[in-house]
Amino acid sequence: MARKIVVDYDLCEANAICMGIAPEVFEVDDEDNLNLHMEEIPDDLAGKVEQAVLRCPRQALSIEED
Ligand code: SF4
Repeated sequence: MARKIVVDYDLCEANAICMGIAPEVFEVDDEDNLNLHMEEIPDDLAGKVEQAVLRCPRQALSIEED
């Protein structure tokens, strides 16, 4: 079962907390847009992504299983 990162861009305020935790996955660019380097979460990054979900101050991140 694949696990995917879902971003609610209406909530995200591009403060880059997630990028600080998991820069392999999250990138806030010069124009304050959050970009994902990947959607599916590889096993070796699962812990970091879960931390980012928990610590996003806007609760803009979630994990979806499909
Ligand atoms: S931590 Fe949350 S609010 Fe901040 S850039 Fe990441 S998703 Fe957006």
